[in-house]
Amino acid sequence: MDLSLDMLTSIPSVISHHYKAGTINWPMGIYITLVHIVGVVGALKVLDCKMETLMWAFILWPISGFGITVGVHRLWSHRSYSASFPVRFALMLCNSIANQGSIFHWARDHRVHHKYSETDADPHNATRGFFFAHMGWLYVKKHPEVVRAGKELDFTDLYEDPVVMFQKKLDPWFALYMCFVFPAQIATRFWGEEFWNGFFVAGALRYMLVLHFTWLVNSAAHLYGDHPYDVLSYPAENPYVSFFAVGEGWHNWHHKYPFDYAASEFGISSQFNPSKLCIDLLAAVGLVWGRKRGTAAWEMGRARRDRDREAGVPLPKAPPRPWEVKKAAKSD
Ligand SMILES: [Zn+2]
Ligand SMILES: [Zn+2]
Repeated sequence: MDLSLDMLTSIPSVISHHYKAGTINWPMGIYITLVHIVGVVGALKVLDCKMETLMWAFILWPISGFGITVGVHRLWSHRSYSASFPVRFALMLCNSIANQGSIFHWARDHRVHHKYSETDADPHNATRGFFFAHMGWLYVKKHPEVVRAGKELDFTDLYEDPVVMFQKKLDPWFALYMCFVFPAQIATRFWGEEFWNGFFVAGALRYMLVLHFTWLVNSAAHLYGDHPYDVLSYPAENPYVSFFAVGEGWHNWHHKYPFDYAASEFGISSQFNPSKLCIDLLAAVGLVWGRKRGTAAWEMGRARRDRDREAGVPLPKAPPRPWEVKKAAKSD
């Protein structure tokens, strides 16, 4: 598998390659490195915190997670359901706490990711390995194909949403405030926590962890798991990623049916998916509507697969994974 010593030992040569090629994204690279330094400071401060602050940091995991999954992913990137203004505004606030770039930029990159998965035009192309798909892509300049693809798609719907444009206008300052300062202000105001404890634990540490939980969807869920819906695609059904990414790891289904608001085949009783539950609860009180599903399309897909199987047609063979390619090259 790809998580081998190779991945670590090749880091210096990869860095030197990008340094010589002038393709390091210095501002983002420095920012992501700083995020990890303040995150580690947060980890060292956990024992100095009040219990309420730890609970607050914990609750901010699903709150900021929903800003990504329910918000920028399922609503704004894929338009898998429609939401009223108050819901969109609340999701924008949650998304700002998650601080993963503006809704506009995230949705743009994500649409490109779906259209060009596992090619040069995919911002976090998993064929370049676990580390690149996880976070390495943020350390280097975008491949020219990613930039080209981002210009070619239509984002009129995003431009027309005042909530998206409001956040874009205030980017990155509003998101930085919501991610680091706001959690600390709540902790100081309501249970008398020291500001910097709130800043480093409910802000920085929680932020760093939720970033990695989201990145696991691009790395682990693109490399490890089952492929029941599309054997040819990389994205996989990964229950561990679903746990950390509040229901977003059922990724083979999601890439096959990206318009499905549940981003998974089954209901929440058989596939962990608090993001689906959140959308269902909002629909029950009439705040969101028009939830689309991919189940009817899959019924036809499954019938076709079963027919082929009975007729003795073999399933198509999946492309080799990066570590299989490496292994084959070594044994040559
Ligand atoms: Zn994906
Ligand atoms: Zn998606």
